[in-house]
Amino acid sequence: MIIAIDGPAGSGKSTVAKLVAGRMGFAYLDTGAMYRAVAWRALEENIDLSDPLSQHSIDQIVALATNEPVEFGYEKGEALPSRVFINGREVTNQIRLAETDRVVSAVSALPGVRLALTEQQRRFGESNDTVMEGRDIGTVVFPSAELKVFLTASAEERAQRRTIQNAARQGKNFDESEYERILADILRRDEYDSTREISPLAVAIDSILLDTTDLSIEKVVSRIAEMAVERWVMPPAFEDPSIDYTQTG
Ligand code: C5P
Repeated sequence: MIIAIDGPAGSGKSTVAKLVAGRMGFAYLDTGAMYRAVAWRALEENIDLSDPLSQHSIDQIVALATNEPVEFGYEKGEALPSRVFINGREVTNQIRLAETDRVVSAVSALPGVRLALTEQQRRFGESNDTVMEGRDIGTVVFPSAELKVFLTASAEERAQRRTIQNAARQGKNFDESEYERILADILRRDEYDSTREISPLAVAIDSILLDTTDLSIEKVVSRIAEMAVERWVMPPAFEDPSIDYTQTG
């Protein structure tokens, strides 16, 4: 079974997806981390990322995405993987740097990059019951996912959450100027991710839309887990061939 959780930056996808995976005993795949890992490698290789990208840069980035598999690993005692590796090297911290935020949307808009990573994501989902989070899971990667959820929240709420999360990770206090920077980055990435030609951020028609601005994480997780259990027991399109559904009474 695939549970697709899509939505914009900071909508709570990662927190919610991990908790749902834990509750259901499913595997978890953070596809954003995969795009980030490729973007980080492009920075590390000093590929010219000035806008618009040259054909030479595009070829180099696509080669990275094609030849360097992204893998995930566990922190000691963790139930779900949070460590990210590309081509066998750990990049868990590097992929969350502001530098990576700045270039990841341009890298992920490249069709060759999407093709390579989508293939890896499908292979993963085909061999595990998975909660997969991203931007295009319900629309492109697994259009036949048994459950599709699209999480959203106001841009201000999303920036606030991301700022608190980053500050906690770095052991710092909430910083207003960091909040402003993150808000601007979120608005820029929303625009870029929603308007790109290939696999734009979009709500699948059969997706459940959840606005998390005023919902607690616990409420969102329970709602998704309940729907997942219902659909697992009886998929939405399930029809028993032995029953004549045209007969009434
Ligand atoms: O989810 P996260 O914010 O870490 O994703 C980073 C970036 O990766 C997004 O802004 C988007 O450009 C890209 N992405 C994507 N498709 C996905 C997941 C992420 O294009 N399925």
